[in-house]
Amino acid sequence: MFDASVEAFGRVDVLVANSGVQKDAAVADMTLDDWNTVIGINLTGQFLCAREAVRRFRGQSPDSRPARSSGVIIAMSSVHEVIPWAGHINYASAKGGIRMLTRSLAQEVAADGIRVNAIAPGAIRTPINKEVWDSEEALTKLLRLIPYGRIGEPEDVARAAVWLASDDADYVTGTTLFVDGGMSLYPEFRDNG
Ligand code: BGC
Repeated sequence: MFDASVEAFGRVDVLVANSGVQKDAAVADMTLDDWNTVIGINLTGQFLCAREAVRRFRGQSPDSRPARSSGVIIAMSSVHEVIPWAGHINYASAKGGIRMLTRSLAQEVAADGIRVNAIAPGAIRTPINKEVWDSEEALTKLLRLIPYGRIGEPEDVARAAVWLASDDADYVTGTTLFVDGGMSLYPEFRDNG
């Protein structure tokens, strides 16, 4: 993947590690395969991509650099890096891991001029959560968890990624940008708990 990128563009400056899956099950029914698959794709996969990105960023000549940083890594996290999620302990554990992967890696590579951040989407209209937006009834239930009153669209996340990758975010590293319409604001407390 990285070779293909260098072949096409001459260098690689931005990694958006965006792969993710869910294999939901109550803990007593969760198989080791359900656990390993989700940790493998959602957490280990991000580590492998980030490691390769750091190696490439460090090896590239600063002269042809198009940006102030020498490379940007954006990890795709989730509101579930902080919101516990019963029935999804593999997924929430992977996302909690991304939170610390992002911070620890940002600390480690800042001196190289590499920025590392995460995006924590809430409910976004993609196939991974089709069952919560596909019917009017499910959507109404979902919207109770989103103070801003609408489901997110892929473009909401894409715009955040573009900003984090750009020089406009040059002083931003080691943080998570929540793109969630307020889902992480404990909406159940809106009417006094
Ligand atoms: C999950 C979705 C879920 C959303 C909010 C995402 O990380 O992949 O299935 O709708 O978090 O709970």
